[in-house]
Amino acid sequence: MYSIKEIFYTLQGEGINAGRPAVFCRFSGCNLWTGREQDRKAATCSFCDTDFVGTNGIGGGKFATAEKLSQAIADCWPRSGGGKKLTVLTGGEPMLQVDSAIIDALHGNDFEIAIETNGTIAVLPDIDWICVSPKAGSELVQKSGSELKLVYPQPDFDPEQFRQLAFKNFMLQPMDNDHQAANIKAATQYCLEHPQWRLSLQTHKIIGIP
Ligand code: SF4
Repeated sequence: MYSIKEIFYTLQGEGINAGRPAVFCRFSGCNLWTGREQDRKAATCSFCDTDFVGTNGIGGGKFATAEKLSQAIADCWPRSGGGKKLTVLTGGEPMLQVDSAIIDALHGNDFEIAIETNGTIAVLPDIDWICVSPKAGSELVQKSGSELKLVYPQPDFDPEQFRQLAFKNFMLQPMDNDHQAANIKAATQYCLEHPQWRLSLQTHKIIGIP
C-alpha cells in the first residue's frame, strides 16, 4: 500500500532538470517533520514549505499495488507523446515508501525515474536520477548520486563539507523565507567564489506553476 499526497503533471522547477516536463508523485510523510505546524519548532527540518500530510491532494490516495500507482502516474502523461517520460518521486520523504516493485512498474511504463530525497535513507540503485537535499541535524546516508541540492544558507551547514562527495552536480538553492532576497545574493556570491557549485532557482514559483 502506497500513501500518496498528490500526483500532477508539470515542469520540474529546480536543479539541473529545471524546465523538463515531468509527472510529480508526492509521497505522504517525512522522517524529519510530522508536517504539523505545532511540531515545526521541535522538528529536525524546520523550514519545509511542502504539504505532505495525508492523501487528499489532486490525484492522491491510497494505492494498493505498484501497478495501480504506476498507472495513475502514466495517466498524467500527455497523449501527444514525444520526449522521454519522466516521473519525479518526491515528498515528504519518498524513500519511506519507494520499493523495487514501484521502480519496476514505472520502468515497465517506460518512465525515467528521478527521486528527491533528504538522503537519510539509502536510495535503491535502479533509480535513474538521484537528487539529495541534505538537512542540517540529520545523518546523511546517501552520499552519491546525480545531484546534490543544498538549500542555502542553513545554520551550521557549510557547503564545503559536501564538496568531496560522489555527486555529478552540486547545486546551491537559496532558502525561500522572509530573507529570500539576501539568500539569493549570498548563494549567487558563493557560486561565483566556488565554481563547483551552480545556482538553482525555484523557477516553478517564479512562473506560477505547481
Ligand atoms: S526533509 Fe524535505 S519534506 Fe521533510 S520536512 Fe524537510 S524539506 Fe520537508
